[in-house]
Order: sequence, then C-alpha cells, then structure tokens
Amino acid sequence: MEITSGLLHAKLKEFFGFDKFKGQQEDIIKSLISGKDTFVLMPTGGGKSLCYQLPALVMEGTAIVISPLIALMKNQVDAIRGFISDQEGIAHFLNSSLNKSQIAEVRKDLVEGVTKLLYVAPESLTKEENVSFLKQLKISFYAVDEVHCISEWGHDFRPEYRRIREIVEEVGRAPIIALTATATPKVQYDIQKNLGMLDANVFKSSFNRPNLYYEVRDKVDPKRDMIKFIKQNAGKSGIVYCLSRKKVEEIAELLNVNGIKALAYHAGMDAATRAANQDKFLMEEVDVIVATIAFGMGIDKPDVRFVIHYDMPKSLEGYYQETGRAGRDGREGKCIAYYCYKDMVKLEKFMQGKPVTEQEIGKQLLQETIAYAESTQCRRKILLNYFGEEYGQENCGACDNCLHPRKQFDGKEALLTVIELVLSMPEHFKTEHLANILAGVDTALVKSYHHNGHEMFGIGKSKGARYWISVIRRGVVDKFLDKDIETFGLISVTDKGRKFYDSPYPLMMTEDREFAEGDDDDDDVVSSQVKAGGGGAGDEVLLSMLKDLRSSMSRRLKLQPWVIFTDVALEDMTILYPITVDELKHCQNVGEGKAKKFGKEFAELIRRYVEENDITRPNDFVVKTVVNKSANKVQIITSIDRMHPLEDIAEAIGMEMDELLDEIESIVYSGTKLNIDYYIRQEVDDDKVEDIYDYFKNEAESDSLADAMKELGPDFTEEEVRLVRIKFLCEVSN
Ligand code: ADP
Ligand code: MG
Ligand code: ZN
Repeated sequence: MEITSGLLHAKLKEFFGFDKFKGQQEDIIKSLISGKDTFVLMPTGGGKSLCYQLPALVMEGTAIVISPLIALMKNQVDAIRGFISDQEGIAHFLNSSLNKSQIAEVRKDLVEGVTKLLYVAPESLTKEENVSFLKQLKISFYAVDEVHCISEWGHDFRPEYRRIREIVEEVGRAPIIALTATATPKVQYDIQKNLGMLDANVFKSSFNRPNLYYEVRDKVDPKRDMIKFIKQNAGKSGIVYCLSRKKVEEIAELLNVNGIKALAYHAGMDAATRAANQDKFLMEEVDVIVATIAFGMGIDKPDVRFVIHYDMPKSLEGYYQETGRAGRDGREGKCIAYYCYKDMVKLEKFMQGKPVTEQEIGKQLLQETIAYAESTQCRRKILLNYFGEEYGQENCGACDNCLHPRKQFDGKEALLTVIELVLSMPEHFKTEHLANILAGVDTALVKSYHHNGHEMFGIGKSKGARYWISVIRRGVVDKFLDKDIETFGLISVTDKGRKFYDSPYPLMMTEDREFAEGDDDDDDVVSSQVKAGGGGAGDEVLLSMLKDLRSSMSRRLKLQPWVIFTDVALEDMTILYPITVDELKHCQNVGEGKAKKFGKEFAELIRRYVEENDITRPNDFVVKTVVNKSANKVQIITSIDRMHPLEDIAEAIGMEMDELLDEIESIVYSGTKLNIDYYIRQEVDDDKVEDIYDYFKNEAESDSLADAMKELGPDFTEEEVRLVRIKFLCEVSN
C-alpha cells in the first residue's frame, strides 16, 4: 500500500480526530515511512507521540517504542486503545509490572500480528528472552522516546539506553525515530552518535514558547511568597517542583494548611497513591500538585497555569522541561523559580563521592543554572541560546528581565579586557578563574598557575569578581567567547570576538542581579531587614489609611512609626485583611506582643474597611506553618531564660555568634520577648548601651542595622548594636 499525504490526513482524522498536522509532524512521519532514521527535537507539548503512533498504525509490522517510564507507557497504551476502541491488542506494553499470563497474552497478539505498537522499558528490551522473542517479528521501526536519557549530559541519564543500538542490530534493523525535548547541541550529538544515526534526518522545531512567562525570584521567605502567588491565582492548576521528597511532603502539607488544595507526588510514594494523586490533579479535584521532577513527564494537562520551582533544578534542561508543562494549550503559563546561591552550593556538595566526570558534568550544568538565574538578560534569549537557537528580539516582553530592565552600561572596555586576557594566555581557563585574575583574587588555583604575577592580575579589582563573571557570561551568550562543554567550560575567543577586539564598537550590558545570600529555608519568620518580595500586590487605599493611623499613633505614643509596625507589616495587612488582634499576629513582623500592644486600632480600621468595601478576605489567609521544626529556637529561649552566656549557647548549638544573633532576632521579630540584659551588662559599656538605645528610640527611621552603624560611627561594633537593638525591640516594640 502506498502511503500518500491524503492517506495520512485521513488516518490522522480517523484515529486521532485531528484535522491538521501540528508543526513538522507530517514531514517527520514521511521521513520515517521512507525508511530514513529520523531525529525529532521538539519542545514538550509539541506533539511528538503522534510522530510514531500514526506511522505505526499505517505501516506493516509492529513498531517498538522504547520509553523510560512505566507509568507513562500505560497511559499511552490506554490512549491508543481509546482511539481505536475495537482492538484491545493494537497496543501493548512490556515491562516488569506484568505477570506471566499477561506476558503470554501480549506475545500471542504480537505473533498474530494484531499489535501495531509495543511499548517496552529499556530494562525489558535488553533482556535476553525478550530479544530472542522479538527476533521472530516484523518490526516496522523503532521509536526511542525521551531519548536524551542516552546522554550523560541530559538530566535524566539511563545507562540501559546506551545499549539500544546493539539490541536493534540483534532484533533486526529497521529505521529508528528518536525523540526528545532536550536539545542542547551536546546532547543531540551524543544521541546521534550513540544510536549510530549521525546521518539521520533531523527535525528541530523552535523551542520558543511565546506564551510562557519566566521569572526568577530571590528565595527570601519563599513559603509566604508562594502562598501569596497561588492565592492570587486561585482556582487555577499549577505544579510546584521541589528537589527532595521530604520537601515535597512538607510543602504539600503547608499549602493544605493554608487552604490550597494540593497533593504530593514523588517516587517514594507507593504506586497506587501516586496514580491516585495524579488522577485527582488531572480531574481537577486538586489545584496544585507538589512534586519532584518525576512528575509530569508525558502527562498531558493542557491548562496548567503556573509552574513554580520552589527549588532551582540541577540543570536548565530540567528547568525547561518542567516549565514546559505550563500553558500547553498556548494560553497563560507563569513560570516562577525561587533562587538562592546557597541551594546551588548544597547541590554541588551532594555530588561529592560520585565519579569525577559525573561531578564535572553536574557542576557545569549547575553553573549554567546559576548563570541563568543571576542574569539580567532576557530569559527567553538565554534559554533558547542554551538550546542552540538564536532569539532575534532584544525584548521578549514576557520575562522579568524584559519587563523590568536593569540599568545598562557600555561593556565595550570590559569585554575587551576579558578578550585580551584570554588571548594573552596559551592555555584556556574557566570563567571563575579568569574573573579571579581580573579582580585580583589569588585563589589556590590562581597561585598554582602563577597568575597572581600576570600583568593583568587585579586590573579590574574595583569591580570585583562577580562583575567579571557577568561580563564573561554575556560574552558567551553573544558569541564573542566560546565556552567548551567538552572540557567542562574552558573559555576561548571566537572569530566574532577577535573581530570585535580588532575593531571594537559600543556594547550595552547589564550587570548580574544581586541575590540575597540565601534564606534559611526552614525559617518561618522574617526580619524586617528583609524587604517584602514583589510587593505592590496589596490594597493601596488601605495602605495609606494604615499609614495615617500609624503616624497619629506615633505622635501620640512618642515612638518612631516603624517601632509600632514596619512597612512590611502594613503591606501584609493590606493583603491579608486581618480583622482581629489575633489574626493580626499572622502578618509579617507582627508578633503576639506587638499585636496586643498596638494592634487593636489597626484591626478595627481594617474591619470597617472590609465591611464598607465589601471585600472578600482570603478564605484562610494565614500563612500557617506546619510544625515549628526549629528545636534550636526552643533551646535558645530556654538557655537565655537561664542566663547562659551567648557564646556558650552558640557553641552548644554549633553556631557562630552572628548566626545565633540571627536566630535571636528572628525569635524576637516573631513576637517572643527575650531578656538578654544579663549578657549586655557584661559585654557592652553602659554609655554605649544608652547611646544605641537612644538612637533606636528617637532617631532611627527603621530598624536597619546598616543605617545604625553609619549613624553611630566606628566606636560601636556590629555585635553591640545588634544586642542593644534586640533589647530595644523586646522592651519597646514587642
Ligand atoms: P510531547 O510528547 O511532544 O510533549 P504529546 O505527544 O504529548 O507532546 O502531544 C501534546 C499534545 O498535542 C497532546 O494533547 C496531543 O493530543 C496534541 N496533538 C498532537 N498532535 C496534534 C495535532 N496534529 N493536532 C492537534 N493536537 C495535536
Ligand atoms: Mg512525549
Ligand atoms: Zn525576555
């Protein structure tokens, strides 16, 4: 039977109910049918499955589909059986979940030629008994889905995938179609080489997903920020990704406690629960699924409206696949990631103990993720660039960096400096190393190459290493420099870079974003030194009313306004609308003492405002914490009660002094009074105590430590100021 375009369209309609092919589907199918090895790079949701399902149904013989996830297989087989309802045997799967009699049934259908599609897990494919059985069949073609699993550079490497070619030869050669949504040039090459299909027809669609919005947020109080975000998107479906199972469970519980219908999903749960939770999400019985990366591969929910990365993933491949699950229907899809550098360091530490190459690869992938997060360039441009695709526009209009551009500077001289440095050395080095030379940081590595004696060592000292890192990254993205992946990121100068060096031209650049040092994830309270994330979500009218009230109280009580309630606290009130003193406690920076002491009038004002304006309050607005895991806090409070010296407490817990002070401040900000006079009396001069106390009482416009240090001058140490500030906050403010 000749397979014409007309026939393909007819079958497309008959089997799948679609009128048109999507993207390059038709060309891909024709390539496969003509007997060519075919390589398909298409973003998630692009419609890859149909590229092998349809030809399998129209070609002679059985197509073998190799796919990594058992759950996924069952799904796909069910879907095909759904299309072609009268023939159960048309699609089967073969994996470790089947018992003997089920296997016998599958084999019978295969031998009788009923089965057009056989899904196999790579582990089953490589089993000797299966290989010898499959030899008797006529194979139409082999499809390898999620084929990035072949490459160590993919985020989901599966060793058994590396044996596929070998098995294909044994069972009997037929065309191979390989499909993936991971398309870095490196992974692509790896796959083609390993499958012996370097001369395959390659179909690469654009990876741009114009309807997705990308944003990276500083991971400061992420729980509260996330709950706020989800509540602002109430009723919409979303996925929250975390890196550990423990975190998944914790966050799922946290969301539920806060009135968001959410379920957990991770590999440590039993299969039945997992399947049930997935179904509830698909059926919209729950709005949010909190998952490790294992969730979502191959599931097809078109209207996922947001994907939140509570933890930054280990690679941009992972990030792109996971964000790709938002807005598959082409409509709204918000992708929010919480980033802090500390998390990345933790991830790197986890890699220790793995084989060296694996570590190097892992680190390299992490570096790319860090660069992405900290960049101020268009996120879309960086992502597409990463997947080997040029993005022409300067401003995509749908990422945080394009919507809120940072200040720019002419980076011509800076880039020239970098290029000069790279050209001056016979060997190539990594980004951090080059940046350290320019910034004059003599790390062990710099010394070992005697680069601290290089004539350019320290010539960019005033800018710091971070600045130089961002210049180099920018140079790489814009192809003035090349970063060699094979050698784990050594930097060289490209032709474009050399031309630029010979005849330079102005080049606008933005510096990388500065992120907070990283939040202690387990913290449930926030100090007011930390500014509220995002902001602006609240009720402006109410905010100005609350500020008025605060000013009049401040005059009446002769206290600085911030001592009564900080701006952060007021802003939170305009989002959460607390109408009792008790509810007020749940706003940021408002502890029990403060709520009781100053809260009554505020709650009263908000209550009237809510009534008069008929405002629906968030039904369960309180960001409740699940458990207070911080045993440390309890120990600190009791030890201070017993008047232990702070040094001893710090040592007992295994903290540095400033970490202990952080903890104490956070305890105080959450409303618990502590009396540390016994310690202050012994450590700080009475005069100094008085000066600092006076400053906070009468002069300070906020509780900012930096301002205090500036105002009080060099006679005071940071520790002294912090100690007295704690005293002040406990006595006056709480
Ligand atoms: P991928 O594997 O590339 O992530 P899928 O194969 O799961 O994508 O397909 C994504 C969605 O696109 C599915 O809902 C599928 O039914 C739909 N789809 C595929 N081909 C077409 C087509 N030609 N017309 C309309 N929808 C299609
Ligand atoms: Mg797929
Ligand atoms: Zn952009």
